[in-house]
Amino acid sequence: MNDRVLVVNCGSSSLKLAVFDQSDATIATALAERLGADNATASLRYNGEKQALALTPGAGHAAALNDIIAALADQNILKQAPIAVGHRVVHGGEAFKGAARITTDVLQAIEACCNLAPLHNPVNLLGIQATRTLFPDVPQVAVFDTAFHQSLPPHAYLYALPKRFYEDWGVRRYGFHGTSHAFMLEETARRLGKPATETSLISAHLGNGCSITAIRNGASVDTSMGLTPLEGLVMGTRSGDIDPGLFDFLADKDISAERLHRTLNNESGLLGLSGLTNDMRTLIEAADNGHADAQLALDVFCFRLARYIGAMLVSLEQLDALVFTGGIGENSARVRAETLNHLGLLGFAVDDARNQAHGRSSEPLGAIHGPDSRFRIMVIPTDEERVIAREALKHAQ
Ligand code: AMP
Repeated sequence: MNDRVLVVNCGSSSLKLAVFDQSDATIATALAERLGADNATASLRYNGEKQALALTPGAGHAAALNDIIAALADQNILKQAPIAVGHRVVHGGEAFKGAARITTDVLQAIEACCNLAPLHNPVNLLGIQATRTLFPDVPQVAVFDTAFHQSLPPHAYLYALPKRFYEDWGVRRYGFHGTSHAFMLEETARRLGKPATETSLISAHLGNGCSITAIRNGASVDTSMGLTPLEGLVMGTRSGDIDPGLFDFLADKDISAERLHRTLNNESGLLGLSGLTNDMRTLIEAADNGHADAQLALDVFCFRLARYIGAMLVSLEQLDALVFTGGIGENSARVRAETLNHLGLLGFAVDDARNQAHGRSSEPLGAIHGPDSRFRIMVIPTDEERVIAREALKHAQ
């Protein structure tokens, strides 16, 4: 019997696919990168092995999707059409408080959010259209990065701007990485043996993009990203918070709005501060070899993160755990230690040995706190694709 669920995650120039079975096991994953460029590549992970896949020359998202699905069929990974397809969609605005089965109305609503996420929603739509063409009879489900944060109270989602900016144009904080933060909630609650609706967390998703969320009794109540995924923490190439007075200050400096947009999104963050790299692993190696600006970038990253952890506490009545995830959160003992060192006054205390082991060897919780810590601190690998597969199955029925 066919039991495969396909997950499609279209980034601005990349495409990730994952195939699950109904019992939640990952069967295969595929990744295509630098789509639209001459040096686009694709690879497939299956049965513990990684193999390169051929792409149609000049492949964009739709062609790459066709190439990868053809390879999955060739290798009997997808012998028939899947039973459901789950799509990651970045922005659902205020229209979506959860995942949604894709219909013409849902497509229109996603399209209406394109102005809020111009780099992401249009490519998400491309992925949906290409998959619908391939599998016209299969239920398709959209899972939104913003949906988990629709529980934010107005005091957390409103900017202190004239209220008509919100009323007329939807200018408010939406929050992102919702699928990952929702997974953190489920997984932490499972490990602690508590219902998710009684679990309160601070969830730090630290990858190339970074965001932090306060979750009170299972609901997102504050988060660091805002109208766009630029606000908040220092990221690989994004600045995070800046003084909005900067725009005025730069008005006579011959920097166009478009140039500034590119600087804030693509040339700032760890890359901008270090002048070297957006990659945390490379940055730490450089800092260890005496690169002063690499250390400075690391220091700014950890200080801003610590400041946000403190800020997230004000939305909570109690805290079951501070959880770290994402490529940096899961793998960098250095970032976690440097961040937590700022938070001694609040009662966070890390255990060095557990931290170095990334919470993997010590005990099943993934805990890295010491005996004197006021709060649990845990490291949990995220799995956004798995959440999308679960949601696709749930909404396809
Ligand atoms: P992601 O976007 O979740 O794939 O995370 C990518 C980020 O994780 C990059 O900045 C990587 O350098 C970082 N990363 C991955 N492994 C490590 C590691 N062992 N130490 C420090 N950073 C890491």
